[in-house]
Amino acid sequence: MTVESETKPAPTFAEIISNSWVFFNGEFVRYRDVRIGLMTHAFQYGTACFEGVRAYAGDGGQMYILLLPAHFERLQQSGKILRMSLPLAIDELVKLTVELVRRNGIHYDIQIRPTLFKSSEVIGVRLQDLEQSFSIHTAPMGNYVDLDGLRCMVSSWRRTSDQAIPPRGKITGAYVNSALAKAEALDAGFDEAIMLSPDGHVSEGSAQNIFMIKKGVAYTPPVTDEILEGITREVLMKLLPDDLGIPVVERSIDRTELYTCDEVFFCGTGAQIAPVIEVDRRPVGSGTIGPAVQALQDLYFRAVRGRSPKYAGWLTPVY
Ligand code: PMP
Repeated sequence: MTVESETKPAPTFAEIISNSWVFFNGEFVRYRDVRIGLMTHAFQYGTACFEGVRAYAGDGGQMYILLLPAHFERLQQSGKILRMSLPLAIDELVKLTVELVRRNGIHYDIQIRPTLFKSSEVIGVRLQDLEQSFSIHTAPMGNYVDLDGLRCMVSSWRRTSDQAIPPRGKITGAYVNSALAKAEALDAGFDEAIMLSPDGHVSEGSAQNIFMIKKGVAYTPPVTDEILEGITREVLMKLLPDDLGIPVVERSIDRTELYTCDEVFFCGTGAQIAPVIEVDRRPVGSGTIGPAVQALQDLYFRAVRGRSPKYAGWLTPVY
């Protein structure tokens, strides 16, 4: 090895992103060559929808994209709300995403971000008579939240309702709601926010769904309590009873049930399986990660890195 190669600094995050290939309006181009104008409707009015997909480094240099078709199905659903459609069939988008990760030569954990957005550069808030664009980019991504135990507050910000900005759609503009809640929680010295629906029931975290466990039963809010219909939530609703013998009940949850249950955790593609150890300064259970969430974390991380044959169906291998 030459001295030069020994001392060459690793590329920064910004350099990795700038040099990466992205898929933009039908072709592969470098991230740095994409031009999106200031008047773009989605930039001005939040009229876009997106997905946060993860790909994990597995054994032997393999990369596994997690639950990829389900993310495109949800993007299609979000697009329908905003009157946009996917540019290609879902199986073609899956192939394209695999090609993008391969083209970028990635062998570390990343987020893959497909985005469907209103791209007309015009003045006027509406959904019809606007052009749409579609992109996919990749970025290095470690843990989004701490996995050892989060201290949370119930936010003074309410989750948006289906009558205002539908949480069922993963809509860019709606993330202002999440950002307000998360910022309030961080300012107050907490790690995360738990938001209530306008009618006062527990909905979800700023970017993750929530479960609580009491007396061996897991509870999670129904999709009609102003939540994003989480893909992780959905697979856990099967995994919890099948693999851990914990039945799951979908029902509305009151704030004080979080104070009095045994375990609480967040789940999501970004959040993964994140234990909540404190809510509004009350310890959840013993105030440390509980046995069910610990077991769930172990199962989940084995599955996403391709080490669980039972859950191989969650994964799209890249190489
Ligand atoms: N709720 C919100 C508001 C989110 O942003 C996310 C992350 N996509 C989730 C829940 C979890 O959804 P998923 O499991 O599909 O990532």
